[in-house]
Amino acid sequence: MKQHSIVAAGAITLLLCVPAARADSVVIEHVTLIDGTHAPQRDMTVAIAGERIAAVTPSALVQHPDGRRIDGSGKYLIPGLMDVHIHLRGGFDPGNRPDAEPGPPNRQEGVEALASFLYAGVTTVVDVGNRPEHILPLRADERAGRILAPRIFATGNLITYPGSHGDRIAVRVSDFEKDKALLDKHIAEQQPDILKLTLEEEGWGSRPMIPLMPVELLSKIVRYYNLHGIRTTVHVSSELRALEAIYAGSDTLAHPVIQGPVSDSFVRLMAAKKIPFASTLTIGDGYNRLVEHPEYLDQPLYVASLSTADREKLRTQIRSEWQGRAWTAWMKVMNPIAQQNVRKVHAAGGVVACGTDQSSGAATQRELELLAAAGIPPLEVIRIATYNSAVFLGKADELGSIETGKLADLVLLGQDPSVDINNAKSIVFVMKSGRIIDEAQLPLAGGRQQRRFAGR
Ligand SMILES: [Zn+2]
Repeated sequence: MKQHSIVAAGAITLLLCVPAARADSVVIEHVTLIDGTHAPQRDMTVAIAGERIAAVTPSALVQHPDGRRIDGSGKYLIPGLMDVHIHLRGGFDPGNRPDAEPGPPNRQEGVEALASFLYAGVTTVVDVGNRPEHILPLRADERAGRILAPRIFATGNLITYPGSHGDRIAVRVSDFEKDKALLDKHIAEQQPDILKLTLEEEGWGSRPMIPLMPVELLSKIVRYYNLHGIRTTVHVSSELRALEAIYAGSDTLAHPVIQGPVSDSFVRLMAAKKIPFASTLTIGDGYNRLVEHPEYLDQPLYVASLSTADREKLRTQIRSEWQGRAWTAWMKVMNPIAQQNVRKVHAAGGVVACGTDQSSGAATQRELELLAAAGIPPLEVIRIATYNSAVFLGKADELGSIETGKLADLVLLGQDPSVDINNAKSIVFVMKSGRIIDEAQLPLAGGRQQRRFAGR
């Protein structure tokens, strides 16, 4: 009886909370809501006022919604997708990793890559290592509303030990006291949203041995950034280094373990400590995929994301380079092991976040496919790419789920992503900060494509 009266009081509150009319308010009615944390809820109404979600209510409880009304019947509303491990294109030669020799920054390539994320439903990206002169002006432009782009969070330069992984785009630190001024300069000038460090003696994959940052040094740097209010992520590839990074105080990990199958105790530890890590399956998958299945480049999202010339170069020159490499063969064997490591940690209750180590919205959608192929149910893949990724970033109070008060970053889908993760591509529209993105304005390298699914 008591419980019944609480429910009734709650319903009255909901009725009163429907926002007053505003020029910039939008109401999505009768939609199936997949809010990032719960099971799908049918016939819901989501009201957006300005840049935020003003109310999330069963449609039956909403009497006279104000604002522009959008009929969501038969459609599915999910939070904007997030990619917490990218290296934005244009800072490096196309197709290369951050340890490749950088060419001059190419702003246009960066702008086009950013557009490809929005086009694919990705409303937040985290750049975890780039040339600061490339990524930081784009971050400033995005925040000032000067470019059409997802939210950009960035580390700027990463930090590593001289000669270690990612050295070429890093602030090199060998001694905490001696190099403290470099850290202060990085914090003051680049204002990292998250700090990326690397703890790696072999490169990510089969590479020659390289110098490794001492764990005590890593720990001091992590603590120093935390004292400035900055979260940290650490590149690792083995279980041993993952453990060291965690106990050195890292807030997150930038990769899953890929150097071998994880131990049961590591799985239990990740579930107990809830250290979020980026899934980054797409990069390892990409080598062999290009060699064995180059036809993926004809999928609409890849056609939109890449120029004709780039796709041709991938199909010919890069494909033949990758064909003979031990690296490609290594990844073919090891990436499925990483995939199973991700699945095991997720199944045990660990916090997997969505990251690609790539630079396009097509790649982020590929990450969802690979997570689902690992055996993770589609609804949980959505959570990984939304709520869990916001947790990784430390922004779950603002982003990552559809809740009253949060920023209105949303994707309306024509088909149900909880039954097939490929339906996350059936995009009707993408909304960022309460505004529906006008796809015609997106500077896509390959141009807009016919969406694979009907329902627009
Ligand atoms: Zn990376």
